[in-house]
Amino acid sequence: MSLNKKIVSLLLVLLVIIGAGPIQQYLRDDLTLVGEFQFAEDIDHFVFYSPHQDDESIFFSQTVQAAIDKVGSDRVTVVLLSDGAASGAQELPEIAQPLDAVTSTVQQLLIQSSAAPLTQEEIADAKRLLFSKARTNEFIAALEALGVGHYELHTLPDGDLAGSIEEINSIIRGKLGTEGRVAHLTYSYYFDPHADHCATGQALQEISAEDGFGDHNTAYFMVKMEPATLANYYPQPIFYKKAHFRLLQQQTGSQQIAAAAAEYGVRCTDMDAATQQIAAALYDTMQRDGCTLLQAIETTSAVSTLRLGVGHLSVKDFFTMTDAHLTNQSLVTLIHTPF
Ligand SMILES: [Zn+2]
Repeated sequence: MSLNKKIVSLLLVLLVIIGAGPIQQYLRDDLTLVGEFQFAEDIDHFVFYSPHQDDESIFFSQTVQAAIDKVGSDRVTVVLLSDGAASGAQELPEIAQPLDAVTSTVQQLLIQSSAAPLTQEEIADAKRLLFSKARTNEFIAALEALGVGHYELHTLPDGDLAGSIEEINSIIRGKLGTEGRVAHLTYSYYFDPHADHCATGQALQEISAEDGFGDHNTAYFMVKMEPATLANYYPQPIFYKKAHFRLLQQQTGSQQIAAAAAEYGVRCTDMDAATQQIAAALYDTMQRDGCTLLQAIETTSAVSTLRLGVGHLSVKDFFTMTDAHLTNQSLVTLIHTPF
């Protein structure tokens, strides 16, 4: 064998040693790759706790699909915890504009009819509620696209789930299985850098430590694949980049999710006409029922036509990660068991 061939052989051996080892060896022992992860065989209902509207798509969608594949749509539930009203996304022009348009049209109608105009505070509250409702509509549309059989909506304060642990605990208690086996899934109480996500994990961790939980329930804590999280537990950055790339290539189902998302995403077309319609419907409700704008938003179905869709995080990031499916690090989840 010539020297050159020896060098090439040596390099090939090195490449195999460096490049082909299982990704698992780069992870801490307490983490399991979802690509290799098998849910316990006897699970017959899955419950996902989504702190905000968009977590169901951005971080949970792959696992939701895996759950549906395992037990069917009718045995998968996604629980929304917060009102989602604190998202900075409402400052984005494509979202701020329709919110402005709805409230200022209502204001014009009130002034034209010599009714008391809205105060600045009422306008701000109305925008938050419209934003929250629109996000919830997206959440519901995303679940329909994913084929989830059941959902539950709560309106705990976005940004302060750490102050709502007791409430989250009682929501989780309401979902505990008493026969069969229920899997409860949310973010990691240990690895997640987002305070709301971490708090949700903490609540599940607390409940899972209670006596009797394990008789019919299993808790899974999902770790987001994003550098801020991963840097904490991959031994070297190069390994997590490589692992990340490999993981994304292993994904199945993202094409179906993208197709389903496109189906609801493209419905947000004529925003101007939609906002005018919503404003008119809200004003009508205020006149007819003698209620405030906030009450009108709460009680009419008009807001269901306000699809922030293309502008909001849930769909924008969804498209980013599925269309150019190597750009979003969050598509794949890792799961760890309590420790
Ligand atoms: Zn979230």
